[in-house]
Amino acid sequence: MKLYSYSRLETFEQCHLKFKFAYIDKIETEVEESVEAFLGSRVHEALDKLYRDLMFEKLDSLQELLDFYNSEWEKNWNEGILIVRAGKGYSQENYRKMGERFISDYYRHYHPFNQSRTIALETKEHINLDDGKEYHIHIRIDRLSMSPEGAYEIHDYKTSSSIKTQEEADCDRQLAIYAYGIKKMFPDAKKISLVWHYLAFDREIHSERTDEQLEDLRKDVLELIHEVEACREFPPKMSALCSWCEFRPVCPNFKHLYELEKKPAEEYKDDNGVKLANEYAEVSENVKELSEKADELKARLKDFAARNNVNIVYGSDVKVFVKSYPRLSFPKREDERRADFINTIKALGLWDRLAEPNTFELSKLIESGKLHPEIQKMLENYAEKGETIYVRLMKK
Ligand code: SF4
Repeated sequence: MKLYSYSRLETFEQCHLKFKFAYIDKIETEVEESVEAFLGSRVHEALDKLYRDLMFEKLDSLQELLDFYNSEWEKNWNEGILIVRAGKGYSQENYRKMGERFISDYYRHYHPFNQSRTIALETKEHINLDDGKEYHIHIRIDRLSMSPEGAYEIHDYKTSSSIKTQEEADCDRQLAIYAYGIKKMFPDAKKISLVWHYLAFDREIHSERTDEQLEDLRKDVLELIHEVEACREFPPKMSALCSWCEFRPVCPNFKHLYELEKKPAEEYKDDNGVKLANEYAEVSENVKELSEKADELKARLKDFAARNNVNIVYGSDVKVFVKSYPRLSFPKREDERRADFINTIKALGLWDRLAEPNTFELSKLIESGKLHPEIQKMLENYAEKGETIYVRLMKK
């Protein structure tokens, strides 16, 4: 049996390299987790305690919950917790107070917490996704409850600073796959509500899925699992989420930055990488200016040649041949007339005369390993091995 979690699949989609670090190499870095994840865990613990105690007929006061939250915060805080927005002036204390507000708002909103009957908290079950019972997925529900009308409710607490739109909630896969699990575990579940509690906004978002949608989702998730299992290349994929990635110290896209941050200011400037990057930026700027200047001179030479009716303009030790001629442009790849243009060339019987193999695409195809080995071998006979150095200058 192979057991997957939603977060594992989500990590794969976010960045293959992060997936490899987390689930294949199981690397541990100096960054333990982000402060946002830490805050989320502490708030979840407090709400879990609230409903667990209620199941034993004990109604915690708000102060009891906040005391519990603060003591767990203090016990678990450590130096490995990353505050990405520290540069914007936000400290551990700001995040701790946010958590207090989330819990207080929730408490006042739902007190005395009798909207639905709790069935399970922080579930740890898993269900199979295929007939062969090979692939299972975790069902990790913050709180499963039943409404007075008999509908199952899957509650999920969110501590993020942004809120889903209704459209996003209707497409969300995480709670939907949990709904699939509940249908399997409780055959009496006719109606299942997906409920997100956006604690920062004191708001609920609701959604539901039909049986057909859940079946489609099951197939999609299985397909994604097969993609994960077939994956052999794990390139890094940069996104806004990189700022919160615990693998930045070992990720080739951020490793150098981490090494630099540990160096004192004087050593920082002597770092070979810093020197090379700075020099490359300077040279690139000069090349850009010179290229603009060359374009301007070309235009002036053309005017001079036309005005003086000459083809060659003479300098001290050089001469410049100047000629201008009309140019025809045809629809490029992204142009919607491109397909029509190509069809016309073919219809006119000119294709064989004009077409050239796209060797860039061909080398990508060979690299991908998607060709039949025999075909690959035949094509490789014509290939010469070399190396392209790709360097792109970006703002930090
Ligand atoms: S920092 Fe970004 S690119 Fe690097 S492993 Fe993490 S998510 Fe991937």
